[in-house]
Amino acid sequence: MTDKFTISDRDVLLVVDIQDDFCPGGSLAVPGGDEVVPLINSLAGKFSHVVLTQDWHPRGHLSFASSHPGKPPYQTIEVSYGTQVLWPDHCVQATAGAAFRKDLEIPHAELVLRKGYHREIDSYSAFYENDRKTHTGLAGYLRERGFTRIFLAGLAFDFCVRYSAEDARREDFEAIVIEDACRGIDVDGSMADTRELFTSLGIRCIPASAIEDGLVSP
Ligand SMILES: [Zn+2]
Repeated sequence: MTDKFTISDRDVLLVVDIQDDFCPGGSLAVPGGDEVVPLINSLAGKFSHVVLTQDWHPRGHLSFASSHPGKPPYQTIEVSYGTQVLWPDHCVQATAGAAFRKDLEIPHAELVLRKGYHREIDSYSAFYENDRKTHTGLAGYLRERGFTRIFLAGLAFDFCVRYSAEDARREDFEAIVIEDACRGIDVDGSMADTRELFTSLGIRCIPASAIEDGLVSP
């Protein structure tokens, strides 16, 4: 049986990339990506503090296969900061695909953190861009707000959720992934790799049902 988690004022729910392009019908659809939205809406009601991330690329972004003639999506290339998976064009700034899902209802979200806006660096993580050095500013924000424990949900489990959880640990926050509120892509065994990594870093995966009902007063 999974332990129950009582949410306090030092906890924050990080909702990762619930955007049209990552849902069925979008350009980089995560299978079942839309299915997590009702669960995330109800989870968010149990947290006083919620942060949303939004993938937000300029046109011609380095991570787009279309920026590398002859390279198909899902192939990898070597770039200055290491290996980069090439993706279909997605979440281009101010396009419909970059918008949050219309059925995502979290009016009390306190911050929308955009990432991936530097043309030459991708950013899976909400904390660091893919060079693993360039900060997004989120760690400082969360620390200044006094949060110590970060619960993660969203898309995709094996990319943006994974890297965000890993960097949350690296920044000395406790990281807990709400697994049934995530969906993955699974490129070259990335789902299994993610689970292994979480175990090795002490990142727990829990079901949404492990979060106690009842909103703490802020
Ligand atoms: Zn992206």
